[in-house]
Amino acid sequence: MTAVRFDATTHARIARLGQRVIEGESISRDDALWLFGLENASDIFDLMSWANRIRERFKGNKVHLCSIVNAKAGNCSENCRFCAQSAYYQTGSPRYGFIDPEPVQEAAEEAQRNGVTAVGLVAAWKGLSEGPMLDEVCERIRELKATGKARPDASLGIIKSQAVADRLKEAGLECYGHNLETSRRFFPNTCSTHTYEDRLETIRYLKNAGINICSGGIIGMGETREDRCDLAFALREIGANVVPINILNPIKGTPFENVEPLPVLEILKTIACFRFILPKQEIMIAGGRTVNLRDAQSMIFMAGASALMVGNYLTTLNQPVERDLQMLKDLGLDPSWDNHGFSDQREAACGCAPESVARA
Ligand code: SF4
Repeated sequence: MTAVRFDATTHARIARLGQRVIEGESISRDDALWLFGLENASDIFDLMSWANRIRERFKGNKVHLCSIVNAKAGNCSENCRFCAQSAYYQTGSPRYGFIDPEPVQEAAEEAQRNGVTAVGLVAAWKGLSEGPMLDEVCERIRELKATGKARPDASLGIIKSQAVADRLKEAGLECYGHNLETSRRFFPNTCSTHTYEDRLETIRYLKNAGINICSGGIIGMGETREDRCDLAFALREIGANVVPINILNPIKGTPFENVEPLPVLEILKTIACFRFILPKQEIMIAGGRTVNLRDAQSMIFMAGASALMVGNYLTTLNQPVERDLQMLKDLGLDPSWDNHGFSDQREAACGCAPESVARA
């Protein structure tokens, strides 16, 4: 990043693009690439001010909060190079089998206490097929839904048949987390045990089952700005309802342990560019927030974020929920949602057409 410099021509182009998005139009890939290429701090702050206006236009002052429970930890058969839970790497992260009902109930109670919309069951394995494990997963989803305390979400890896997605829907699953992770071009640098196409196929099954899609990626793995831009456009194309942006927290023992962290302004600019490309989606800042953004965390909303992963992540710590809630209060943002769900969000704020998640 270079020194602060005011450039009226650049600011005028940002304003034209921002106004276009606010009026309901889309920006082109070329325009988006130009935004991703902004270097100057003054230009990035100007971009953020427009991303903030777009967030306010489509999301008001609502902020969606999600939490996760590690439902099966470690010893994963996949070799995702950023992940502490892969059996390929010695990271010292915990390993245990699929969880009992009690921790899920506790997570639901904690979510309700903190005004958190959703609890996601996350499992470290390649994916789910039909059999006794699917029965157990469906049981946990049913129990979570029956509490009435939080929206039951899950992130259970690759799904290889429509029947599995349909079973999850029948059990009451409302939203499934399955990141594209990065651009199609950069994906082979992150994993070789499954493909980008496997991930797209899973998303197709879920959408056919009528399950909302939470899909985003990780930035800061060594990808280019063009990769980040293409990820955002791919997420627009698949009709993701919620878009989590994770910022790499390099884990000792993984192949990415020495990757240079992204500068704070580069992270904030990326969030703002995503808001320009995905104006109506929930853009959720997830893993790596505290460690990468430090004192600049609250600026994610100015950059266009509208959702937050709260509580601890799968293998790393987050700041306490109380601090996040205080941050939202200080900024005049409202974390409350009625009905724990997408039924109101889809129409009132998310803007995703119901048919985008209906059976094809
Ligand atoms: S599939 Fe998920 S849990 Fe397994 S290594 Fe990849 S990111 Fe980690």
